[in-house]
Amino acid sequence: MLSIKRWHVAAAIAVGALFIATIESPKPISDEPIPQPLVAFDSAWNTGSYANYRKPPTHNRETHIVYVQPGQNLTSLLTNEGLSAQQVVLLALTAQPLIDLGRLQIGAPLEISFNDNDQPRVRLAKEYGEIIDAIYENGAWNVTKQTVPLRAETHEAAVTINSSLYEDAVAEDVPVTIINSAMMALSHFVDFQRQLQPGDIFEAQYARSEVVRDKALFSHLQNPLKLSYLRFTNGGEDYRMYRFDGTFYFEDGRVAQSFLLKTPLNGARLTSHYGNRYHPVLGYNRQHKGIDFSAPVGTPIMAAGRGTIKHASRKGSFGNAVIIEHAQGYETLYAHLDRFNEDIDVGDYVSQGDIIGYLGNTGLSAGRHLHYEVYRNGRTINPVDIKVPSDRRLSGVELARFKRYLAQLKSQASELAGLAP
Ligand SMILES: [Zn+2]
Repeated sequence: MLSIKRWHVAAAIAVGALFIATIESPKPISDEPIPQPLVAFDSAWNTGSYANYRKPPTHNRETHIVYVQPGQNLTSLLTNEGLSAQQVVLLALTAQPLIDLGRLQIGAPLEISFNDNDQPRVRLAKEYGEIIDAIYENGAWNVTKQTVPLRAETHEAAVTINSSLYEDAVAEDVPVTIINSAMMALSHFVDFQRQLQPGDIFEAQYARSEVVRDKALFSHLQNPLKLSYLRFTNGGEDYRMYRFDGTFYFEDGRVAQSFLLKTPLNGARLTSHYGNRYHPVLGYNRQHKGIDFSAPVGTPIMAAGRGTIKHASRKGSFGNAVIIEHAQGYETLYAHLDRFNEDIDVGDYVSQGDIIGYLGNTGLSAGRHLHYEVYRNGRTINPVDIKVPSDRRLSGVELARFKRYLAQLKSQASELAGLAP
């Protein structure tokens, strides 16, 4: 087994080396006329830095790209390419307000070139669509940040669920970022652990942005993706959501969020359902009045909906517990917290998604988990069954803008049901 793993590593290195060898071949950066040298070699002699050049002065503008290798830092990388150690230190200092060159990502590409006076130029990506351009001239670096225009391409996906939304969407080449955004938006209404049925339909429209030039400098970064529309049919429900100003809305302008979250934390696994069960600590069967989520200690716990903090302290077997009072006779309880958010107090108003505390193992608990209960008029209900949509909606000018946006979205050719005129 070990030998096979080693073989993979060796193969990966070999492929990586080949890749770099190909990329490193010189190519002109532009068709503009090559500037003639104003001063010959002796300029380097005059500045006293010639001895630091490991590479002989090159003629023409030789441009190539190198990739940050594991264990390499800016100095080892750039001195290897013919820059002096002083030039590298000066570059890091000059660039500091724009980029921290001490923290280069492994695999990040750097474009290096020299002009006829053997003055170096280094270009690299900061974020997707942003380039840091450093030109060395007369003993100093001139570092600027440039924006590369992006071109957005619209993609559509229609997926019929056979096993899971995630697997089936991946099989249809839907990017993972888009699947995650969609699941996050849908989690207000769908419990992906339980409620999925074969034959459910998932639709998505998203835009993928790409730089119009300098693509090689962004090869290590993910293209920006934006989900604009999604649809999910599940158990007779047909959710169609449209993103507008960063929030998902239903077609009628209602905010596509539930009144209360089914899952008030991210990255958790539902480990115990609502109803009868054997209690692991008490040792007998009793009604489980909430649902349990397993996640690492310290995972932030969110307010399931907007409301007022009614309790935020120790509460018997619940350990550290928070209770929030919501509208329409609803209350939510979060138990066994490791600690509370220091900023919350009884009587405070919280919005949906506000962090109220952190997952823990306090009170009568057999292991780290969140115990989550929802009450309606004093009686517990199964959080998974909540389907009450948020009562917030667009109105007036905002609603009119949304309607115009929707009409425009639906005027474009689309195969998706929720985008038909
Ligand atoms: Zn529980």
